[in-house]
Amino acid sequence: MAVSRIRLGLVGIGKIARDQHLPALAADDRFELVATASRNARLDDVPGYGDVAEMIAAVPDLDAVSLCTPPDGRYEQAAAAIDAGLHVMLEKPPTATLSEIFALAERARDKGVVLFTTWHSREAAGVDPARDWLRDKRIDAVRIAWREDIRRWHPGQEWILAAGGFGVFDPGINALSIATKILPDPLLLDSAWMDVPEGRAAPLAAGMAMRSGAAKVEVALDFLQTGPQTWDIEVDTDAGMLKLGMGGSILQLPGEAERKQPDREYPRLYARFAELVARGESDVDVRPLQIVADAFMLAERRVTEAFAF
Ligand code: NAP
Repeated sequence: MAVSRIRLGLVGIGKIARDQHLPALAADDRFELVATASRNARLDDVPGYGDVAEMIAAVPDLDAVSLCTPPDGRYEQAAAAIDAGLHVMLEKPPTATLSEIFALAERARDKGVVLFTTWHSREAAGVDPARDWLRDKRIDAVRIAWREDIRRWHPGQEWILAAGGFGVFDPGINALSIATKILPDPLLLDSAWMDVPEGRAAPLAAGMAMRSGAAKVEVALDFLQTGPQTWDIEVDTDAGMLKLGMGGSILQLPGEAERKQPDREYPRLYARFAELVARGESDVDVRPLQIVADAFMLAERRVTEAFAF
C-alpha cells in the first residue's frame, strides 16, 4: 500500500533550519516540504508565508509543522498549528516556560495530534551506547563541560541573550538532554550560579552542582570560549571512566578505542517524527527544560561586563 508523505511546513528559516532541517527533510522521502513560514526569510523553491497562521490559511492540506524559531514565541505558533489539526515538532528548548509546554501537550492530546519535543544531541552517535554501557555500572561522579564561542555559533543572535533566550543554557540544555538520557537516576539541582552581562537578561556563563543517585554531577557552561571548543561529559564508574566528547558524537569507554560515527542527529529526529505520526503518539520529555528552570529559580546571579556580538 502506498503511504502518503507527510506534507510539512517549516517555521523560522534561520541557521538551524538551513544547516540541518532542510538537508534532513530533502533526504527523507516520508516528508514533503510544501511551505515555509518566516517573517523575512524565503526559500527559492518553496512557497513562503510571513507567519504560521498565514501559512495554514494558504495551504489547506498541510499535515505537520516543524518549528525552528527561537523558543520565546513558539507557544503561539505551536498552538495555532495544533488547533488546525497539525502534528508539531519543536526545536529545543521546546518553549520558553514549563507552563507553555505542559499546556501544549494537553492541547495536542485533546486535539488528537502528535507533539514531539526534539533533543537533537540525544541522537548523537555515542549517546545510546553510553546509556546502555552505564546501565549496570555504579556511577560515582559526573562532570559536564560545555564551553563554546557565542560569536562563532550564534553570530548576531540577540534573542539568545534576551529574556526567554536561555543564554548559555541554549547550548547547555543539549548537555542536560544527554545527561537525562544516559543517567539512570533523576538529576536534582543543589546549587547554581550565573553570570549575566550588564544590560542583558540571560547568562553568558553558569555552573551547577547536582546529584543523580549517589553521584555528584558538576556542570560548567561557558559562552565565551575561544580556541578549542568543548562539549564533554565524563562519568566515573566502578568500571572506569566513560567519556562522551564533541557533543555526544565520540564515545570513549575504558580500555577501548575511541568510537566516532558520522553525524545523523537530524535525520534521526525526522525519522522518529515520521514514526510518531504513523503511530499517532506524542513524545514530550521536559526534563532538560525542568533543570534549566530549576537553575533559573535557584541560581546566585552576578552581573558581569556588557557584551556585544
Ligand atoms: P536563528 O538563526 O536566529 O533563526 C531563527 C529564525 O526564526 C530567524 O532567522 C527568524 O527568521 C525567525 N524568528 C521568528 N521569530 C523570531 C524572533 N522573535 N527573534 C528572532 N528570530 C525569529 O536561530 P537558530 O540558531 O536557527 O536557532 C533557532 C532554534 O534552533 C533555537 O531554539 C536553537 O536553540 C535551536 N538550535 C540551534 C542550533 C544552532 O547551532 N544554531 C542547533 C540546534 C538547535 P525571520 O526573520 O525570517 O522570521
